[in-house]
Amino acid sequence: MTTLLRFAPSPTGALHLGGLRTALFNHLYARKLGGKWILRIEDTDATRAVPGSVDGIREALNWAGLEYDYGPEKGGPHAPYFQSERLDLYHTHAKKLIESGHAYRCFCSPDRLAATRESLARVGSNATYDKACLNLTEEEVARRVRAGEKHIVRLNDSNLPHRSTPPDLIFGNVRDAHASLPTDPVLLKTDLFPTYHLASVVDDHSMGITHVLRGEEWLPSLPLHLDLYACLGLHPPEFAHLPLLLNPDGTKMSKRKGDVHVADFMKRGWEPEAVLNWLALAGWGVQHDHPASSPSGHASHGLFRSTWSAFKTAPSSTTVLTMSDMIRDFDLKALTHRRTVLDPAKLEILNKQHLARRWNTPDGLDELAGRAHGLIKDTPYTSQAYIKKVILALESRLTNLNALPAHGAFFFEDPDFTSSEARGMLKGVSSDDYQSSRQSAISTLTAVAVDDWEKVDFNLLLHEECQAAKIKSKTYMTTIRYALSGVKTGPSVPDIFRVLGRERSIHRLMSAPAFPERGV
Ligand code: GLU
Repeated sequence: MTTLLRFAPSPTGALHLGGLRTALFNHLYARKLGGKWILRIEDTDATRAVPGSVDGIREALNWAGLEYDYGPEKGGPHAPYFQSERLDLYHTHAKKLIESGHAYRCFCSPDRLAATRESLARVGSNATYDKACLNLTEEEVARRVRAGEKHIVRLNDSNLPHRSTPPDLIFGNVRDAHASLPTDPVLLKTDLFPTYHLASVVDDHSMGITHVLRGEEWLPSLPLHLDLYACLGLHPPEFAHLPLLLNPDGTKMSKRKGDVHVADFMKRGWEPEAVLNWLALAGWGVQHDHPASSPSGHASHGLFRSTWSAFKTAPSSTTVLTMSDMIRDFDLKALTHRRTVLDPAKLEILNKQHLARRWNTPDGLDELAGRAHGLIKDTPYTSQAYIKKVILALESRLTNLNALPAHGAFFFEDPDFTSSEARGMLKGVSSDDYQSSRQSAISTLTAVAVDDWEKVDFNLLLHEECQAAKIKSKTYMTTIRYALSGVKTGPSVPDIFRVLGRERSIHRLMSAPAFPERGV
């Protein structure tokens, strides 16, 4: 059987990090096993649909380089890939379940259902419905259906094949899993749309899904899904539920606490490879040792399976992994079932390294320069070749490409000598030394021929000059750095010369303030 996985988001808003991690793990597992994966849009709840979500999800996947094999816009052997276009299939299965006595139609009004739920709870019952409609005669059901009476279809949980302990590839055997299920769960709603449960089981089966990798929030639904497979006489796929992602303080990630949408990470200039690397290692690496990663809710399952502690080769949570590394090393058995912390500090470390990997290749550097172009204000110095030089000069100082305009502002515009950083730079430099350093540098640089500019060893040249002028090298270099950039730290002075070029470097030294403002 060909390995086939699916990523099945509901179009209820922007894709969040948890969703991206689910898509990533589906991608990794499919590629690892030489299989394929589907993007399936679970749009059966029209009340929660948010226009534009599908485009947003596709854009995010595309940005991340997670290319699905079948799905919207691509088609494939199991099309359509929108559940709202597959209603007939759900109806056929619901009918089959009704005919075999595994499901029945329920005509109870919302008011009656609410009152029943309440009175059952009052007497301490775990039941959520009194199964009143299970006792309707066939004739009565037929009459009410003919009369067009609104109804839903429920699973009949008193007529189920043997229930077993649901196995999960990450969480192990989920004991007491059925306890939290409602009585006779709803399969078809009054609008004739299926609930998530029926649609998901029918589609996973009809599409030939072999492995379901999805978020931990669906673990409580696993027993119901297995009941449905059993009632329909179908063989279930394998299941793996991915643990929740947490903030470093152990709280659930939410928009209120920071960025959770993939679109935020795209906008903020993070490298997609770094974000994927970060997400992969959060559940894969050493994070299960974090004190916040063992919520008490889980201990009661008592079903801890393999974690990285059993694996000698656990990568650290900042190990740089490319997509092919991840595919090679991915192993479901190595995933922890514990809730995992996503630490933004680790993303910074990874991003810096993925940025470096990128600018080290000509194509990667071109791509970065293209992206940086959109970040820079319109100045005469925005050619692709020039931006590439700036990126290489800033190099390891750059944690995120979006920081390029701030870190490299002086490459694009004249230095800002009024900033407090600029005013503080010349604190230890006397006016005389400032003037002589500047003059000496101007004449030294003017003596360098245009054709020699790229080849000159500026360090050596300036060192000799400051000795000849009897000025301390620190004073000399600080003056030059001040005139060129107005900032204390950054690329080396020779690197700045090479990026600015001969004419602009000399011009900056000449036009630097004759009497610089100084901080106190
Ligand atoms: N539609 C569900 C969601 O968006 C996915 C559940 C699943 O993968 O089975 O969370």
